[in-house]
Amino acid sequence: RTADLTGLPTGIPEALRDEGIEELYPPQAEAVEAGLTDGESLVAAVPTASGKTLIAELAMLSSVARGGKALYIVPLRALASEKKAEFERWEEYGIDVGVSTGNYESDGEWLSSRDIIVATSEKVDSLVRNNAAWMDQLTCVVADEVHLVDDRHRGPTLEVTLAKLRRLNTNLQVVALSATVGNAGVVSDWLDAELVKSDWRPIDLKMGVHYGNAVSFADGSQREVPVGRGERQTPALVADALEGDGEGDQGSSLVFVNSRRNAESAARRMADVTERYVTGDERSDLAELAAEIRDVSDTETSDDLANAVAKGAAFHHAGLAAEHRTLVEDAFRDRLIKCICATPTLAAGVNTPSRRVVVRDWQRYDGDYGGMKPLDVLEVHQMMGRAGRPGLDPYGEAVLLAKDADARDELFERYIWADAEDVRSKLAAEPALRTHLLATVASGFAHTREGLLEFLDQTLYATQTDDPERLGQVTDRVLDYLEVNGFVEFEGETIQATPVGHTVSRLYLDPMSAAEIIDGLEWAADHRTEKLRALAGETPEKPTRDRSESDESGGFQRASEMVADDGDGGGGEDGVGANGDGDSDDADGVETDRTYPTPLGLYHLVCRTPDMYQLYLKSGDRETYTELCYEREPEFLGRVPSEYEDVAFEDWLSALKTAKLLEDWVGEVDEDRITERYGVGPGDIRGKVETSEWLLGAAERLATELDLDSVYAVREAKKRVEYGVREELLDLAGVRGVGRKRARRLFEAGVETRADLREADKPRVLAALRGRRKTAENILEAAGRKDPSMDAVDEDDAPDDAVP
Ligand code: ADP
Repeated sequence: RTADLTGLPTGIPEALRDEGIEELYPPQAEAVEAGLTDGESLVAAVPTASGKTLIAELAMLSSVARGGKALYIVPLRALASEKKAEFERWEEYGIDVGVSTGNYESDGEWLSSRDIIVATSEKVDSLVRNNAAWMDQLTCVVADEVHLVDDRHRGPTLEVTLAKLRRLNTNLQVVALSATVGNAGVVSDWLDAELVKSDWRPIDLKMGVHYGNAVSFADGSQREVPVGRGERQTPALVADALEGDGEGDQGSSLVFVNSRRNAESAARRMADVTERYVTGDERSDLAELAAEIRDVSDTETSDDLANAVAKGAAFHHAGLAAEHRTLVEDAFRDRLIKCICATPTLAAGVNTPSRRVVVRDWQRYDGDYGGMKPLDVLEVHQMMGRAGRPGLDPYGEAVLLAKDADARDELFERYIWADAEDVRSKLAAEPALRTHLLATVASGFAHTREGLLEFLDQTLYATQTDDPERLGQVTDRVLDYLEVNGFVEFEGETIQATPVGHTVSRLYLDPMSAAEIIDGLEWAADHRTEKLRALAGETPEKPTRDRSESDESGGFQRASEMVADDGDGGGGEDGVGANGDGDSDDADGVETDRTYPTPLGLYHLVCRTPDMYQLYLKSGDRETYTELCYEREPEFLGRVPSEYEDVAFEDWLSALKTAKLLEDWVGEVDEDRITERYGVGPGDIRGKVETSEWLLGAAERLATELDLDSVYAVREAKKRVEYGVREELLDLAGVRGVGRKRARRLFEAGVETRADLREADKPRVLAALRGRRKTAENILEAAGRKDPSMDAVDEDDAPDDAVP
């Protein structure tokens, strides 16, 4: 019974009871018996939705009650704020909660006053690198979804971070929460932790396969779900759940598909089903929600989502804006939205149980694999585990789809009867070790090759490997790489990070990204004269007087004329053409001014580092971007690979496509147009923008440190990405509440700077802001105007030229 729990801060057992948690679930009780609330380390491998969070909370709260400090490591940024919000209910019992996201290069000093801190593993890793003082005060660390150490990209960071935290504090309590993986015992051995392994669920889960006119469940039962001629299985299953077994028993469905596009098209189809079950009251609530969704952004994705939501269905994927995701999840929990079509990201952690889960696609395109690849059992089980809402449903149903009896049998074998895979460390991969070995040396965890190997011996990799030589070999290769690139130096046995090596580690860059950036900027310094000439369309033999003057200026001077870029023929409806008339042939209105390096050159440079996820080249893209590659050749920082170097050339083009997206963004092309042109969601634009901002910030630091003359160009390229504007709007867009679109409107109305905002005619400002008084007042205030009030101002008093 929760009332009998000891060692927690005063009031917590009662609070739990008030939440309706009177008794611990069996795995929770087992964890407490294993010493969870006495500081014992623990691995809890239990199914989704079986109360892992409470296990973590009990550990953290009892640790804090003993005067300690707890850290909760989440796998996704989106989960950090959700967990923080959840833990904040303990604030009335004197527990301070903080979340650490954002800027990598900081020591998060303010967090030292918090009792519970939530952060991603990348953030924790960077806090360790930046020597956050409170790190050694930690008494309890929770690793959520610890089975993700198996993830090629992100696993090694979690693994190394846990090893470092344990090394910093030998008495640290580690609580690792895991899905039910095959080898949880290996994980608990690695962490010297007790193991609680269980298949228990708070609500029964019936797993089955739909084929023909019925679902066959693993327990032998069947449920008839007929599918008419020419109909599809998924809508039939969604409708059947909504029919329920009687009155007031409507069940919602989660449909998992393998791509964003599929999620969107499935949602469109499911909306026609859910619409039939929406009541009159719900219809108006849904209409309101749809309007809210449209307000978040005016993109096609937003519009599509709103259209589906108005009928009671939605899609959910990583390309959605965060506000959209929250709105959809909340409305689904409130049973207003009756069906969500999602990519598997939703299964990883977000708490959205539903009556029925339909796993429509169990294969997914995998670029490394070169085709459609079956999902891992673990992943499918996690999706299926979202079925069943405790207190609402008698049981949850998770259904796979088969076209014939053979396929049905195969799915039973492959997923329903199968155990989840084992977790395997991915640390020995070179990119992972590159980053982590430099960080380990730079933050003083080891100073010799032996010391490094000793440190690595505390990782899961060492626990698992049967080839102990391998780690030594990769370590030597990586140390060579770091030395050659000037990030570490050897003095006899001792390894030290160089000043640049320290910077790279603190900036949280992959050393390979740093090397690429440094090479590119140095190359630019060596080639600037020649390239500036080429950009001006001049041959090196015939420099004009003007040009050579600007060459001698040593860097920061900008040539006066603009060179028009004829872009990809996108037409003048994008963004704002230079002449603002919107119907000319001036392509995307992307201008190439003659700063050197150019923005495109810099965007391309950061886009080709391993820290940027590049856009894929679709069919036809190769041609388009090859052409663009030759056209913009003088702007690239480094040698363009030849078309015969297949892989290198392809990578170059992917980076170019990504860089072009950024160039469109800073050329003020509409978001909607960008999503269409590159086949991405608004969330992806955000992602690319944030990553490039970070990488350009890092480039700026490296250029400063190495005394390269491109600092100014880099800073400007970064600021333009940050605001998504052309150069002339940088000042305006920096005012809080303005943003790229409003900045353009104000500019066109003749209000061109922050200073202009303080002086300008109010009706002019109001008209440029489409009569939004509150917005106008906030903006004027943010610009430092003494009398921002818009009372009694009439936008109609504005002169005609104020309305762009
Ligand atoms: P997991 O993290 O394992 O996926 P959660 O921690 O989100 O699962 O738990 C699922 C739900 O169960 C939550 O809404 C939580 O409040 C509830 N819950 C957890 N423990 C108990 C308990 N002992 N009694 C009743 N409800 C509980």
